[in-house]
Amino acid sequence: MKKIITLIFFLSFSFFIFYKIFSFDVAVYLICFASAVGFVFQSYWAHKLNIWLNTNNINDIPEGYGVWSEIFSKLYKSSRLEDKSKKELNLTLEQFIAAAEAMLDGVIAINQNNEILWCNKPAQSMLKISLKKNYKQPINYVFRNTAFSDHLETGEYDETVKILDQGTRKTIEIKVTPFRNNMRLITARDISQLISNEKIRKEFVSNFSHELKTPLTVIVGFLETLESNKSKIDKETLQIFSIMSNQALRMKKLLDDLLLLSNVESNQLQNRDEKIDVYSLFKKIKNEIALIDKKEHQINFSINKKINLKGSAIEVESAFTNLITNAIRYSEANKEIRVTWNIEAMQPTFTVKDSGIGISKTHLSRITERFYRIDSDRSRDTGGTGLGLSIVKNVITQHNGRLEIKSNLNQGSTFKLIFPKERIL
Ligand code: ADP
Repeated sequence: MKKIITLIFFLSFSFFIFYKIFSFDVAVYLICFASAVGFVFQSYWAHKLNIWLNTNNINDIPEGYGVWSEIFSKLYKSSRLEDKSKKELNLTLEQFIAAAEAMLDGVIAINQNNEILWCNKPAQSMLKISLKKNYKQPINYVFRNTAFSDHLETGEYDETVKILDQGTRKTIEIKVTPFRNNMRLITARDISQLISNEKIRKEFVSNFSHELKTPLTVIVGFLETLESNKSKIDKETLQIFSIMSNQALRMKKLLDDLLLLSNVESNQLQNRDEKIDVYSLFKKIKNEIALIDKKEHQINFSINKKINLKGSAIEVESAFTNLITNAIRYSEANKEIRVTWNIEAMQPTFTVKDSGIGISKTHLSRITERFYRIDSDRSRDTGGTGLGLSIVKNVITQHNGRLEIKSNLNQGSTFKLIFPKERIL
């Protein structure tokens, strides 16, 4: 602006001088001539600028003259800056791609229409995707798997999906993570080794428990015989036998629970479609409970005998008994325990509600883990093995149902086993 005002002032002043020295006409001619020269000068540099903009090569930038020198120098500086940040961006991108390629897990980026935008090499071999061929194609058409497609559609990505590749017999775990506007990152991991290790561990526990069971049964039997000969044994030795017998029985209970747990976990040899007569089941459970509780608690049963269940009788009995005995073990004497079997929201539901010691939020998410106990002494003193809820959780999972736990510290707990409606008989 300043420069334009100076130019106008300079032209007016020159016009005035020419007018005074020569005449009005000469002053007009001279000013027009000067303007024409100026116009040609500006056009020349504008033309140079246009040529450079077309090539956009930083090394060919003209030097210019006057105000144009200033313009070209600024252009040169900003071009250099832009060039530098472009190089830095490219380097970061290259490093990021190299890091993603070096990963053992498969990584795939998809947009809001499930179209493949990018994937690394492990993803290409794990899910049989070719970036060249399948770029911008929907992933659920390229990698065809019902469980994966359903999972992608739900939009709930807290859980992972496990897929068995029929060709390679490898198990792939897939996790979907949303990012930016409806974009998603899919990570695929080969967990075959983990699964195989877990299988070996389970087999070991199962075999180990089996092997220990026979000698332990013999020991328990002999200890009982020894204890029954009270008259021939002195008081002190009898006390020792009694302690040995209690500990051996605890070990036996632990082995029984371990075996039951490994049987529930293994899908083979389990018939989970037996007809379970609920009336007889609860009659049996009530008798067992009566032996344990000796009327210390007020246990109220509300059983809808018309609802029979399709499942494994042994497993279901064990799950129901575990929940009732826990309610007894973790409630003070005389407290009420309510046991219900009925249809809730169209699903057969078993509920045990106690008004016992309750469970704080910090422990709630972990109590179904093996050997997870809040108070180990109380658990042991009341004959617990730390495996009860783990068995319950596995039983209900194998029956395609779910375990729901609601509890507050010192306010009691409610445990629900919710079976799918297809299991009603
Ligand atoms: P345990 O043999 O120790 O009872 P479980 O697997 O049955 O093993 O239970 C795990 C832990 O959960 C228990 O040690 C106890 O701390 C807690 N728990 C289970 N049931 C109840 C309940 N009804 N009320 C309070 N705490 C419970």
